Amino acid sequence: MANADVKETFSFQTEVGQLLDIVAGSLYSNREIFLRELISNASDACDKLRYEALTRPEIAANAEQFVIALEVDKKAKTLSISDNGIGMNHADLLETLGTIARSGTGAFLEALKEDKKGDLGLIGQFGVGFYSAFMVANKVEVTTRKAGEDQSWLWVSDGKGEFTIEPTDKSECGTTVVLHLKKDAKEFLEDVRIQHIVRTYSDHIGFPVLLGDETLNSASAIWTRPPKEVTEEQHTEFYHHSSHAFDTPWLVLHNRVEGVVNHTSLLYVPSMAPFDLYDNERKSHVKLYVNRVFISENTEGLIPSYLRFLRGVVDSEDLSLNVSREMLQSDPKLTKIKKALSNKVLSELKKKASKAPDEYTTFWENFGAVLKEGLIEDPDLQNKLLEVCRFSSTGNDGLTSLSDYVARCKEGQDSIYYITGEDSKKLVHSPQLEGFKAKGVEVLLLSDNVDEFWLQHVTEFEGKTFKSVTRGATELDKIESDQIEDAEDSSDESDLADLIAVIKVELGDAVKDVRPSKRLTSSPVCLVADEGDMDANLERLLKRHGQMVDGATRILELNPTHSILEKLAQRAKGEKAASDPLLQDAAHLLLDQAKIADGEAPSDPAEFVRRLSAVFDKAL
Ligand code: ADP
Ligand code: MG
Repeated sequence: MANADVKETFSFQTEVGQLLDIVAGSLYSNREIFLRELISNASDACDKLRYEALTRPEIAANAEQFVIALEVDKKAKTLSISDNGIGMNHADLLETLGTIARSGTGAFLEALKEDKKGDLGLIGQFGVGFYSAFMVANKVEVTTRKAGEDQSWLWVSDGKGEFTIEPTDKSECGTTVVLHLKKDAKEFLEDVRIQHIVRTYSDHIGFPVLLGDETLNSASAIWTRPPKEVTEEQHTEFYHHSSHAFDTPWLVLHNRVEGVVNHTSLLYVPSMAPFDLYDNERKSHVKLYVNRVFISENTEGLIPSYLRFLRGVVDSEDLSLNVSREMLQSDPKLTKIKKALSNKVLSELKKKASKAPDEYTTFWENFGAVLKEGLIEDPDLQNKLLEVCRFSSTGNDGLTSLSDYVARCKEGQDSIYYITGEDSKKLVHSPQLEGFKAKGVEVLLLSDNVDEFWLQHVTEFEGKTFKSVTRGATELDKIESDQIEDAEDSSDESDLADLIAVIKVELGDAVKDVRPSKRLTSSPVCLVADEGDMDANLERLLKRHGQMVDGATRILELNPTHSILEKLAQRAKGEKAASDPLLQDAAHLLLDQAKIADGEAPSDPAEFVRRLSAVFDKAL
């Protein structure tokens, strides 16, 4: 495809064309960010060559002297950005600069549409930062030569639908981007202006950014600087640059560890949940550097997937540079780093949770469900993880820690009680909670899908076992009550015997058992799982994911003190109770009510309506 003799003309891919129209036509006031984007690309190109040179030293003669040079030509009204990085060949140019829409193109167009203010400043986060050049230039020339190749290329475009590629001569590998500045963009020819922009946006770049002889940035990798010397603004800029994020980091963890495996980590906890948080791949986005050489963006085995919301870099001089990315992943030293990082992050979260509980609540809402995956994934850190977990509960309005829950436990309470379901607001009204509320026993309201799964892996916290209130017996008898005990409590139960017999016959296999309830105080009935069975919510989840077809039948519990049950029990004492149509209908209606209270549909909606109408009719 590459033709080394002639000039070829190409059309921009449709979406790219649309994007360019918007970029070129905009009156965006913050245009200066184009320079950040082009310097960022130059820096990426140097990173790439430095990595390639590890295995092919012959392609980078001057690998130790990477520089990004800015040059102004006031007469020609051009600003150029040059690097001696990896460069591009013909195929690279076609793929990255024009004929193929990068995945972010459409997303960025969408974002511009939604947000009427259209923040073009976010362009880099969508992976199309290069095109920001057209905010200030009416013509862009890219001269480039790929490391290890002989042919150089010139890419030219005025951003109006087409671009050309033709052969050219360039003595060294790397790329020069020349911007022919628009009439209203002459300010970018001024040294002072350029200096200011570079210091504001690109100080963290690890290679020197030169204007003439002057180095404009600190030119040392930000994570290698003493933590106290890095300002909040510098962190934010670096976080944006390295993570394609646009929020301000909530937490910055900058540490140097001298130990079994020396390493430096600069990690950011975002203040907003990244969009790919729940992707199936559960990829981490922390960049791995070995002795300041960029290795890879998502090294497996560096960050556990339950911390995949972290951004930033890890740099270790103790890992080997002379192995492939794949071999690095199985280096036991990497496992040691991972362990140290996980521990560190959890300790810092614990501190933050006690120092700034409100902020921590926001963090928890963003990432709690992800962090809880660690309870399954990382048994060694289970207890540390439980310490930083927060839960909704019937005991207070906000979120509670487990320690606080345990501190509020009643005399005789050996368990941490919980109920699981889809929506904690609805869960509060579950009939199964009534007895616990009446006794003042707090119940955790768990509504993340992951909750069902970690509960299978965690047995206890501070000596208390986790127990579902919708499964098995309640053990409420053992717990001391705040209120005065109900005197007639136990006498009612035996009165239900006849009614229970009728209901059992009528419902047959639809229920596992029918019994008087200790957990109901105001609702007439509820359903619970048998001790060894699965909670209904877990069943629902598994069924939804096609991992289960039929669930276990559940136990129907009756509230002996409820007036419906008292009246039905009275009626069931008659001789022909078993063939009493009203009792028969009532049996089904009670079961259906219990299902509805759990957010399920009655087993047979048409029959349900018929029975309800029949009972209604009698009552009127
Ligand atoms: P991103 O940097 O997020 O990938 P850009 O639009 O900024 O998106 O750049 C698109 C692509 O063009 C880059 O991924 C890279 O492959 C290529 N590119 C841009 N500038 C350079 C450069 N100076 N050297 C080498 N490749 C470059
Ligand atoms: Mg870029």
